[in-house]
Amino acid sequence: MKAAVVYEYGQPIETVDAHLGEVGPNDVRVAIRASGLCHSDVSVQTGALPFPLPMILGHEGAGVVEAVGDAVTTCVPGDHVVLSALIHCGICDNCVKGRPNLCFWGLNTIFGGRNPDGSLRARDAQGRELYQFSSIGTLAEELVCHEKHAIPIPRDVSFEAACLTGCGVLTGLSAVLNRARVEAGKSVVVIGCGGVGLNVIQGAVLASAGMIVAVDLNETKLDMARRFGATHTLNAATVGSIPDAVRELTGGFGADYVFEVVGVPELVRQGWDSLRIDGTLTVIGVHPSTSEAILPAGEFATSEKTLMSCLYGTSRPTKDIPLAVELYRQGRLKLDELVTHHFSLDQINDAVATMNRGTDARGVVVFDG
Ligand SMILES: [Zn+2]
Ligand SMILES: [Zn+2]
Repeated sequence: MKAAVVYEYGQPIETVDAHLGEVGPNDVRVAIRASGLCHSDVSVQTGALPFPLPMILGHEGAGVVEAVGDAVTTCVPGDHVVLSALIHCGICDNCVKGRPNLCFWGLNTIFGGRNPDGSLRARDAQGRELYQFSSIGTLAEELVCHEKHAIPIPRDVSFEAACLTGCGVLTGLSAVLNRARVEAGKSVVVIGCGGVGLNVIQGAVLASAGMIVAVDLNETKLDMARRFGATHTLNAATVGSIPDAVRELTGGFGADYVFEVVGVPELVRQGWDSLRIDGTLTVIGVHPSTSEAILPAGEFATSEKTLMSCLYGTSRPTKDIPLAVELYRQGRLKLDELVTHHFSLDQINDAVATMNRGTDARGVVVFDG
């Protein structure tokens, strides 16, 4: 089978022949039919996310279960599944308090890029063991992973639409509904309107936010933002100061909620400055691991503003992925409209170049099935 692998930071992604190992007792083998390309994949390639290499990229996939281990209870061969980038144990402190995205066992597993038992399940043609991004590696024709990554979905949902619920859609929606818990009627500013930001906008619509202000440098993305529910748009290239423009739109007060979805530290500051007193800034963007954001400390005693960090949207994948799929089936969530470019696996570097140009919402790699 073919897989998209990063061998060295800063080098092009290689599409190589790879072999999968045994399906362990708790494993599933999945034939991937569609996989989105997320900025985090590119961050692994550049080294901004310093994960172990060589690594199969991709953490936003959907496909068909081909085989399951003896102890697997969550799915059977033939099931259509979305691959969740997170897994959780269900019994640690964080799982028990309803925060499975912070599961100790799960985070140790996915950040290590290995299966939970510590093994690696794929090798290249030279016999070199391959790590899997988020312990799944969906930019491959097939993968073997722990059953807890595989979330069954109805068979009438296209793989292209479904795969997006594995990361970008889930992160955006959950950041609004689970993390910030946006209240009806409040004002929301979304800085960055790519594959995740558009879903923050969709989440704000679902939460019945009042004003939804989309901020981006790219007019095409701002057009999309309006179609996804933004009530106002600001082009950061021409508006001058984002905080000043937000205050002008909000009667001089600033926004109730701001979401930073780009991963640029200066935008954390601009997001903070765009808040009204008692407002909440949620940082979703993946910032370079060595970067620092600077905030005006004097405001800590005077503004009661809240800064929230956010891991994978504070999502609960086993609950929130099926919810997103159901909202799509009901016509209340746009997924097809998010896919702006299609690629084959061999075109993975074109997909990265397209993403880096900043004009696409989501590029999806499709596989023959
Ligand atoms: Zn992602
Ligand atoms: Zn846990």
